[in-house]
Amino acid sequence: MNHIEENIALLKQRIKNVSMQHRPNGSDVLLVAVTKTRSSEEINLAIDAGITDIGENKVQEIIDKYDRVKSVRWHMIGHLQTNKVKYIIDKVNMIHSVDTFKLAEEIDKRAEQAGLIMDILVQINAANEESKFGISEKESENLIAEILKNCPHIRIKGLMSIAPFENDPEEVRPYFKQVHTLFDRFSKIADEKLDFKFLSMGMSNDYEVAIAEGSNLVRIGTAIFGDRHYPQ
Ligand SMILES: *Cc1c(COP(=O)(O)O)cnc(C)c1O
Repeated sequence: MNHIEENIALLKQRIKNVSMQHRPNGSDVLLVAVTKTRSSEEINLAIDAGITDIGENKVQEIIDKYDRVKSVRWHMIGHLQTNKVKYIIDKVNMIHSVDTFKLAEEIDKRAEQAGLIMDILVQINAANEESKFGISEKESENLIAEILKNCPHIRIKGLMSIAPFENDPEEVRPYFKQVHTLFDRFSKIADEKLDFKFLSMGMSNDYEVAIAEGSNLVRIGTAIFGDRHYPQ
């Protein structure tokens, strides 16, 4: 076994253990491998080891790797500029980072042109951190209402949130709880275009707490591939 394969096996076991403790059937957490800065060779090793979904945070990296990576579901998890939607609309399966109506409108327009319905998540900034993208709970209600009214080529699949970085992941438990409560609230609304299935929370350092607090989609890079090295 290579390291990537070993790490994935361990991670899947841990994810299963936490979800078994907190859910009746235990196996309902989707592992999205975060592949930013990783080569297509590394990504293909992860796919060989059973990864079905990968997440990238830059449009350019998706374009560069798209044809070299084996068949997999792509997730756009980073901030997305409106003028770049057109480059990824037919490549990604879900966009996790929708936080303005302007971006939603552009996704809707490009999805219509491409003849598809795009799955999205609304990004919540639960801690109201200035440095992070995403919107408040209150703003999310308005945004979701606007999308339902005006964007027939978008299906809202849930919420995404990035917790503040803390050495002790226990510190961010309240934020995960808060987003889970909001998720449950939206889940009760009956609308064909509002199909709340995914609560995307949890990264390498805090995924166990996130799952315990209701996450069913974790985005994990470092714990699979090791530390990231950004080009200088
Ligand atoms: C990089 C990134 C992750 C993964 O972070 P790790 O700590 O490497 O697991 C998850 N979500 C988003 C939005 C990211 O940009």
